[in-house]
Amino acid sequence: MAAVSVRAEVTELLQELIRVDTTNPPGNETAAAELLRAYLEDSGAECELYARVPERANLVARLPSRGDGPTLLFLSHTDVVLADAAEWSAEPFGGELRGGEVWGRGALDMKGQVAASAVAIATLAREGFEPAGDLIFAATADEEVGAGFGAQWLCEAYPDAVRCDYLINEGSGERVELGGKPYYICSVAEKMSAPFRLRVHGRSGHASMPGIADNALVKAASLITKLGDYVPERQLTPEVTALLETVTGVAPVSPQDALARAGEIDSFFAAMVEPLLSLTFSPTMATASQKRNVIPAICDVIVDSRLLPGTTPAEQLEVTRAALGDGDYELESLEAHGGTRSPIDTPLWDAVAAWVEQLEPEARPAPICVAGFTDSHWFREAFGTVAYGFFPSRAMSPELAATLVHSADERIPVDDLELGVDFLRHAAKSLGW
Ligand SMILES: [Zn+2]
Repeated sequence: MAAVSVRAEVTELLQELIRVDTTNPPGNETAAAELLRAYLEDSGAECELYARVPERANLVARLPSRGDGPTLLFLSHTDVVLADAAEWSAEPFGGELRGGEVWGRGALDMKGQVAASAVAIATLAREGFEPAGDLIFAATADEEVGAGFGAQWLCEAYPDAVRCDYLINEGSGERVELGGKPYYICSVAEKMSAPFRLRVHGRSGHASMPGIADNALVKAASLITKLGDYVPERQLTPEVTALLETVTGVAPVSPQDALARAGEIDSFFAAMVEPLLSLTFSPTMATASQKRNVIPAICDVIVDSRLLPGTTPAEQLEVTRAALGDGDYELESLEAHGGTRSPIDTPLWDAVAAWVEQLEPEARPAPICVAGFTDSHWFREAFGTVAYGFFPSRAMSPELAATLVHSADERIPVDDLELGVDFLRHAAKSLGW
């Protein structure tokens, strides 16, 4: 790679990564891991590939320390979701540089951060930088499907390769303005994704004689309405307390107080805070009869539900039963992932805060619990790692970025790539000294 600047280097590396089709399924992340290994070994970083099956390798690069300071790991995943070329105005796997942005599937989620992490560690290696504790870069497979080839497997099968005190992953980093002041959102916790099935029972019959049957679809309607109308019990979390304290200057005394103070800043902020105070229910799918003229005996409703860290699926189902009351139905948990948090008062937080202040003296980092989960939870659970989601962005609005992730015309401004490299280098240099 004959790049002349960090900016050119990270741009070129991202373009090359996008051109490697790692659509998951099937993934085929080994090609991306090999590309990264070639790039990193050129710069003197130690690299190892770990693969449960040959075509789905995870890359781990390491800059060893001579001391015993804290270990920092840059985590990212190399797989991407499907792209339908017909919906795009660029080639999804073309990696085109257009108007100061790199276009292609994975630019935001998250080959941009893969490239920035690799360039951060490569440039530090070339400078002869010696970290206080080992600096590790893990580019893992299979985040989007989570079938056991990526971070989860790596933590279980090769814990010594990826054990770390601190970790920087995807999940946040966007610059937002709240009450006219700038903040960079840093995700320190993730809600648990715990969808469940509500199965409503009735009795089938011919649709021409509704009186002889007991229509499960009709019975489901009132239960769905109850879930939609349900106002869950709210509780104050460490993340909301710290977020409100950062933005309003005052720690809230109750969940109601937090919502009221957020509303005084603006309605968007209140809407952002509300789901962080409780579990949420969103009925999203329903199936009943497969025939127009047959009254269904069963109606299945799938409910997306996100729990605060610390809430269990058993508690969730208890709350659900209380909300629905007695009836001819059953509840079944479908899965439960994530739902972990890291403390906010840590040296990694200080590193984020110092970097934000240097970038924009009037800006502050703001901690948040995000609704979705990332691979961070495997590391929190396996090693007690302090894991934050922080990849700074300010050239593209968070609203636009949200519409492009997992969608058509995904792209990332080169300015934000460069910003990401700068932050990651800063974090590596700050920790442990
Ligand atoms: Zn992702």
